[in-house]
Amino acid sequence: MKGDTDHDESRRQTWVSTSAGSHLLHRRSRDTTPELQLRREVHRLGLRFRVHKRVTPRCTPDFVLPRWQLAVFVDGCFWHGCPQHGMKRFKGPNAQLWREKFEANLERDRRNNASLAEAGWRVVRVWECDVHSDATGAARLVRDRAYEDTADRTSSNGSVAASSPFPSRDDR
Ligand SMILES: [Zn+2]
Repeated sequence: MKGDTDHDESRRQTWVSTSAGSHLLHRRSRDTTPELQLRREVHRLGLRFRVHKRVTPRCTPDFVLPRWQLAVFVDGCFWHGCPQHGMKRFKGPNAQLWREKFEANLERDRRNNASLAEAGWRVVRVWECDVHSDATGAARLVRDRAYEDTADRTSSNGSVAASSPFPSRDDR
């Protein structure tokens, strides 16, 4: 578990464009690289989680920390509309379709958040680009969110800064 803290730095570079996209061939749709990266870092921080557990009838977070009643999502920048990498304008003949598709995605995110909250779960969402740039920092965010539970459940509402807490270290 220890002694290999920096290899993510080099691994990240494998993500940058290969023309044929051959690196995508063996990926499963759910266990995406940023998801795995984050889980590894979260594990390293000593937190235990379950993967792809159905928490509410229609919602299966990427992973959950059952002890902390915390659901974690790693949101893809493109499909979930990350402020830096999400699509900002919709153009061309399919503009309306794109817009509807993205709005449906966001709506689903909101619905999932709400149904989780209703079931007593807290939610933390991490952008995939934040995992890429600082997986450890992203894992710490998850940990802090988990520990807020015991620190102050009633008065703080567990608010986490909406903007990215991660310094931009590289190629943005
Ligand atoms: Zn992003």
